Amino acid sequence: MSSTNDKGNVRVRIAPSPTGNLHVGTARTALYNYLYARRHNGTFILRLEDTDEERSKEAYTDDIIDGLKWLGITWDEGLTVGGPYPPYRQTEKIDHYAAEAQKLIAAGKAYNCYATTDELAALKEEQKANNLPTRYDNRSRNLSAEQTAAALAEGRVASVRFLINEPQVVSWQDQIKGEISIDTADLGGDMVIVKSNGVAIYNFAVVIDDVDMKMTHVIRGEDHIHNTAKQILIYEAMGAPMPHFAHAPLMFDIERQKLSKRKHGEAVHVDYYRKQGYMPEAIVNYLTQMSWTHPEEKEIYTMEEAGRLFDLDKVSKSNAVFDVDRLNWFNSHYIRSLPLDLIVERSQPYLQVFKNGESYEAADIERMISIVRGGLTKLSEIGPALEFFFVTQPEIADDVKETSIATAGARLVLEKFLTALPQVPWSDQAGCKKVVDTLGKEISIKGKDLYWPLRAALSGTTHGPDLGAIISILGEKRVRERLEAALGLCSA
Ligand code: GLU
Repeated sequence: MSSTNDKGNVRVRIAPSPTGNLHVGTARTALYNYLYARRHNGTFILRLEDTDEERSKEAYTDDIIDGLKWLGITWDEGLTVGGPYPPYRQTEKIDHYAAEAQKLIAAGKAYNCYATTDELAALKEEQKANNLPTRYDNRSRNLSAEQTAAALAEGRVASVRFLINEPQVVSWQDQIKGEISIDTADLGGDMVIVKSNGVAIYNFAVVIDDVDMKMTHVIRGEDHIHNTAKQILIYEAMGAPMPHFAHAPLMFDIERQKLSKRKHGEAVHVDYYRKQGYMPEAIVNYLTQMSWTHPEEKEIYTMEEAGRLFDLDKVSKSNAVFDVDRLNWFNSHYIRSLPLDLIVERSQPYLQVFKNGESYEAADIERMISIVRGGLTKLSEIGPALEFFFVTQPEIADDVKETSIATAGARLVLEKFLTALPQVPWSDQAGCKKVVDTLGKEISIKGKDLYWPLRAALSGTTHGPDLGAIISILGEKRVRERLEAALGLCSA
């Protein structure tokens, strides 16, 4: 196969069909195209393949655009000062596709087919009954003028079919998979390129768009391999320059089941992770390394770094595995290490539940987040982790009471700390902890016998962030109230 587009002007695209929300597989393909464009100083385009009128919805388009932007995957073409243009949409080009189909008919490379849906369904049934592969039998390929006139007189409306010669082998050098060869006998017969309602189907519209938009590389999922064979035949028939093709491996779950909406529900959508407080940086890093190996085999890197290094020869040929535990590992890393003010900003939606609870200064909320973020897998966990700060009194469960408040020295610890409150340097968290340790020495109680009664009294649990920080953030009034309430639970 000849490719006339060269690497100097790399032009790539993501071309989702807005028939569902942004799928993690589409996000990964978008990312690979985006990174490839960055790597080669090229252009990355978003095109909506919305010719399936029944299944395409504006809400899906919005979700796809929002999801890509949220991940930081921005498209270059059409960018203007003040914000991105709308992406390209295939529905704007219906007439153009139809006109291109007419050119192929005139050249004898396509023809009108008058078979009805019922006739084609009957053909399929018959093939199935005879254990034959289902395919179009090319019945309208050579209709005579009389047959055509008769079909029209019956009120039949033509679809346009593209003529596929058989047998013939379509081969290309796939930039990820290596040499691929497909026998045209496996392509299902002459294919419809324009439906009887005048709307072009994907395999035709995609070629015209990729030609019009001067795509140099088509990087997409491996599920399109047979489509690529069909599309190559169309490029050849049109005499159009062909892009390079690269098919990325499909994504499976850890049980080797293909990721699908039917089996995995919302967990295949980017938005599902976004709502739970996953960091876009984590998703981008996770999806990038899923099938691409960093030259230094690094696991953690930014999209910008990947954009300097990404290339197709380092994309794996074998199936990708989407493993939520792995994603969580990346997410914890980013929650821990992104700038604190960014994490604070992103935490706000999850803190709304506390708007009628105890109130704190913004700086204290920032401190709360800084002391718990190391233990979070996703930001939605921040509510439960910080709840004890916002309630009037933390609830102490019976089993916690058992090991903390109902212990021999608990009353003494709580009483001592109450007495020591005037000495607590409230704004200094290390100083707060020191007061506790000093009083422990005085009463010869240490370790969990010292800390657990205080932790339980102040936070309702014996585990959690730094005790000094908890004391410092709660402040004198709340600490006093909590110690007094816990004293009421102590045995005499
Ligand atoms: N609309 C197709 C899809 O969503 C695009 C495939 C392609 O990149 O050509 O799968």
